[in-house]
This record gives sequence, C-alpha cells and structure tokens, in this order.
Amino acid sequence: MLIDLHTHSCFSDGTLTPAQLVAEAAARAVRVLALTDHDSTAGHTQAREACASTGIHFIPGVEATAGWRGQEIHVVGLGVDAAHPVLVAHLGQVVALRRERMARLCERLQRTPALAASLAPLVPALLAQPVPTRTHLARALVQAGAARDPQAAFRRHLAAGARGHVATAWPDLATTIAAVHAAGGHAVLAHAHRYRLSAGALRNLCSEFAALGGDAMEVSLPGLSPGDATRLCELARQNGLAGSAGSDFHVPGQRWRPLGRFAKLPDHVEPLLPRLMAAA
Ligand code: AMP
Ligand code: MN
Ligand code: MN
Ligand code: MN
Repeated sequence: MLIDLHTHSCFSDGTLTPAQLVAEAAARAVRVLALTDHDSTAGHTQAREACASTGIHFIPGVEATAGWRGQEIHVVGLGVDAAHPVLVAHLGQVVALRRERMARLCERLQRTPALAASLAPLVPALLAQPVPTRTHLARALVQAGAARDPQAAFRRHLAAGARGHVATAWPDLATTIAAVHAAGGHAVLAHAHRYRLSAGALRNLCSEFAALGGDAMEVSLPGLSPGDATRLCELARQNGLAGSAGSDFHVPGQRWRPLGRFAKLPDHVEPLLPRLMAAA
C-alpha cells in the first residue's frame, strides 16, 4: 500500500493547493496521505475534504521548525488536532519568528546594491505570506534576477555564511515535541541525514529526541543513499523510535521526488503507520 507522511501545499512553501496535492496523490495510487506544511495546519480542512472524496485516508500533520544546539531541526507532527490551543499557540509563535526572520533577511539582502532595487517591490508579498519561508525568498531572488533557479539562490544568497542568513532562536525540541503531544500527535524527527551533523552529533540528536518522548524518525525518503538509509534505520532501532516514510513533496514534476514511492522498511524498524491508523 502506498503512503506518504510528509508533504507540502501552498499553505507553506509547496506550489499546489491541498486539493491539487490530493489529486496528484490519487493519480499515483497513494492510499494514506499526511499534509505537513511548515508550521501551519491551515490546509487541513481542504485536504481532509479532498481526501474524503477520493477515498484517501487523511492524516493531519505539521512540520514544526525547532532548534537544537544552534541547528534548525524539523519535527513532523502526525495525527495532530489542529485546533488544540497548545499547538495553535506554539505555531503562532514560530510563524511570528519566521516573519521577523524574513524581514531581517530582506533587509540584509537589500544591502547588496545590485539587489536593492529589484528585490524591494517583492518584499511586501514575502512578508504577507501566511508562513514566510526561505523557499519563497529563493523564488523571489530568481524573479529579481539574482539567481538562475531557487537552488542557485540558496547556494549563493541563503547558505550559512552568505549575506542572506540570520540565526533564529526557534523553540527547542522539548517544547516542540510537547506541543505535538498536547495536540494528540506523534512526533517524528524529519530527514535527519540532511542536517550536516557529524556522526556523533547525529547520534546525540536521535537519542535526545527519543529521551524527550519523540515517537519516530523518517527512515525512508526519496533519494536516500543506501548508506544513509542503513544509518537512519540503525539509529531508529537503537533509540526505540518507529520508522516513518514521506516524500517531502513541494512541487509537481520532480521525478526524483514522487509522492508515495519509498523503499520498504527493514524488519528491525517498527513502522509508525499502524499506530497512526489505530488512533484514527
Ligand atoms: P525555511 O524553513 O524557511 O528555513 O526554509 C526551508 C525550506 O527551504 C525547506 O523546507 C526546503 O523546502 C527549502 N530548501 C532548503 N534548502 C534548499 C536548497 N538548497 N535548495 C532548494 N530548496 C531548499
Ligand atoms: Mn519546505
Ligand atoms: Mn524539512
Ligand atoms: Mn518538509
């Protein structure tokens, strides 16, 4: 059965509406779909309705931005009650931090003389995004002629050490996991191989995530190298974390990141899915 437990819509930095995302999932025979927008649950109602009319089992989710030892870490909450006041307050605080960060990023980038004039007209729309993300900024930099494509914008302008980089004091892992749990959700450590941590730091992250009550980690993602897949599965097993699988879908047409197609979890990793279905 095809599932996808990590996807984005236009309610954060995806390009599809929830209904378009669900149509894409249906066309690919996905049977269980979680919508996990960055720090937002605003797309749930539309996604739930579209899933109901296409026979897909909908899992309400969110990808919460957190901080750990100065690193930005993403925690996917699955099966969350979007109306729970603790989660609502938590995400409200993160989006406020995002808006402040976007203002500072734009201000810093506009100090580059070549960018000042071309970026200025795009700033109000960036700040007005319901969830302002660096993806939006990367697309604006392309529109402003500062980069060929969003990837190049990330490399040239938004990477650590570049002008368009500001550190942000995101909520810590304990607070983030607690907010997901308060809303009845399962806390999943997202794409741990992407944080550019040393092997030792990655081990510490996973064990701390588990010690704080985290439930699972993503171990099956498109494009995961065999070595990373083995490492993530081993970390899940060692820390008693269940395994989750999601594409991190943002944009249609990326053949290397299709919805719902992953490697099967190895036998020694407990899949998270049955727990999500039992709760439904
Ligand atoms: P933010 O959460 O605002 O810091 O933005 C992070 C988002 O930017 C991620 O969820 C990705 O969708 C996107 N992203 C991060 N790094 C890159 C990159 N190198 N190229 C393209 N997109 C990226
Ligand atoms: Mn994103
Ligand atoms: Mn992420
Ligand atoms: Mn994501």
